Amino acid sequence: KSFLDLGVSEATLKALDKKGFTSPSAIQTLVIPELLKERTNLIGQAQTGTGKTAAFAIPILETLDCDGSVRAIVLAPTRELANQVADEMYSLRGKKEIKVLPVYGGQSIDQQIKKIKKGIDVIVGTPGRILDLMNRKVIKLNNLEYFVLDEADEMLNMGFIEDIELILERTNEDKKMLFFSATIPDSIMKIAKKFMKDYKLLKV
Ligand code: AMP
Repeated sequence: KSFLDLGVSEATLKALDKKGFTSPSAIQTLVIPELLKERTNLIGQAQTGTGKTAAFAIPILETLDCDGSVRAIVLAPTRELANQVADEMYSLRGKKEIKVLPVYGGQSIDQQIKKIKKGIDVIVGTPGRILDLMNRKVIKLNNLEYFVLDEADEMLNMGFIEDIELILERTNEDKKMLFFSATIPDSIMKIAKKFMKDYKLLKV
């Protein structure tokens, strides 16, 4: 199958061509049409390096309804991953003027606050810094369309579960949740069952 077969837009096809992505990976072939067809909660099992970022980024970017508030958040375990995901999302945004910002500890929080105040559509960050920004009332996550946990197993291994739950408790109910993880241990199923009414499980 080609990206065209998966139903992605002309603008995304151009962005993909620019990136040199000629054909979709296995996880992209599963996830992209599913999310373009219907907004749904989803757990995607895929190793790092399988193209999982574009798998969630493309449908999110294509369907996001930007209104000046934060409409999608991606939580990532490390600053490196937060930067990679933000870069990939930015490069796949097509024609839409979607503002994507990576935030993580160790970066000047004042600089981050300045950028956030200019208006951000998608925030990609590590849980601790996101919570800090929520506590300072710099970001509100009460108007989300999508909440993504990237490398979920890694995040739980690193002890982020409490932060993740604190963040989730302060988000709107009607968002869709997407978890991506190399493995699906019980701890992930537990949080999925606690916060998702139903979900699809896709594995490669
Ligand atoms: P990820 O698993 O999202 O970290 O992606 C691993 C690497 O593969 C990244 O450098 C991506 O930019 C790249 N990539 C993702 N999808 C494709 C694709 N369909 N064709 C070629 N490269 C890809």
